[in-house]
Amino acid sequence: MVVKLETSLIKEWNGYMGRPFLISGPCGAETEEQVMDTAKQLAKMNKVSIFRAGIWKPRTRPNSFEGVGIEGLKWLRNVKKETGLPVATEVANEKHVYEALKYGVDMLWIGARTSVNPFTVQEIADALKGVDVMVLIKNPINPDIELWIGAIERVAKAGIKRLGAIHRGFSSYEKTTYRNQPNWQIPIELRRRIPDLPIICDPSHISGVREYIYEISQKAMDLNFDGLMIESHNNPDKALSDAAQQLTPNDLKELMSRLILRNASPSDPKLLDVLGELRQQIDIFDDHLIDLMEKRMKVAETIGKYKKENNITILQSTRWDEIIRKATIKGQSKGLSPELIDNLFKAIHQESINRQMKIMNNGIEDHDHLNH
Ligand code: PEP
Ligand code: MN
Repeated sequence: MVVKLETSLIKEWNGYMGRPFLISGPCGAETEEQVMDTAKQLAKMNKVSIFRAGIWKPRTRPNSFEGVGIEGLKWLRNVKKETGLPVATEVANEKHVYEALKYGVDMLWIGARTSVNPFTVQEIADALKGVDVMVLIKNPINPDIELWIGAIERVAKAGIKRLGAIHRGFSSYEKTTYRNQPNWQIPIELRRRIPDLPIICDPSHISGVREYIYEISQKAMDLNFDGLMIESHNNPDKALSDAAQQLTPNDLKELMSRLILRNASPSDPKLLDVLGELRQQIDIFDDHLIDLMEKRMKVAETIGKYKKENNITILQSTRWDEIIRKATIKGQSKGLSPELIDNLFKAIHQESINRQMKIMNNGIEDHDHLNH
């Protein structure tokens, strides 16, 4: 079912300078100097449409930097005055909305930890009734497109016209290359369901580290996203939140110059990068295999120490036969060929033996032990 909302075109938004509509600034406002210096450098680029900075930071654990609060809104007001850039911040309750509007914030975004909660989204939507401000809604932490659309609808119903979505990836239990899984099929489905809604990709929060920001940005452009939200800090390594994923304004400039913009029609089925999605899954499983292998080798080493202390030979062929036999049966039940199991386990076994040999022959701390 296609949802029809009365939203305005992104081309009509403040600050629009063409595609990608670029929103940039630090994860969090920390000091007036940091905010102002970063903003001035970003303004000079002539590519940034909106300056962002979190004033209230949702943190996983207490006692981390939770934002400077209302004080930071004054800094944003000064940024706007000095650079002319429209400013944006995250709101997570109605009080945030009132405070931000009081200080003339031009764009509000609802964070991933807020868009999961319909009560809070409704509270924010109610506070936005009759207000003309740009609002972006980040995808909820969990990969639930209905919840995302629901949040968008609540805000649209409040009468917000300059409304858009931010794709910032989805949390998963698996430890993966990226901090948050992109699940590209979800924003693609969002585009199908609400064709006129601008979608901004947030490669910083998907990636979690600087090195992947470019590839994710490029992919978002290839998928015909309207814009990008990229965190930028004048001294990223010293940032009080999300230090690893922020770029200096210079690095952002360099990244933008490398982006290739292709023209694609939004209805082009090729935009759905099935292969990319599947490769992502393969990467997750390969990461898993390596983690498991590491754990297995640690246990093998502990066994090696035990064998040494108790004068047991390393190779005990009955045990090895048993391992291979069980693995072959289990593998077959899962459709894995005996050759695969045999090759794989031989390699693993060899590595275990090598490690145990090393411990047997020259474990220094164990040497002492033997002499006692
Ligand atoms: C942020 O933009 O700094 C932020 C907290 O994002 P998210 O809600 O996507 O985690
Ligand atoms: Mn952040």
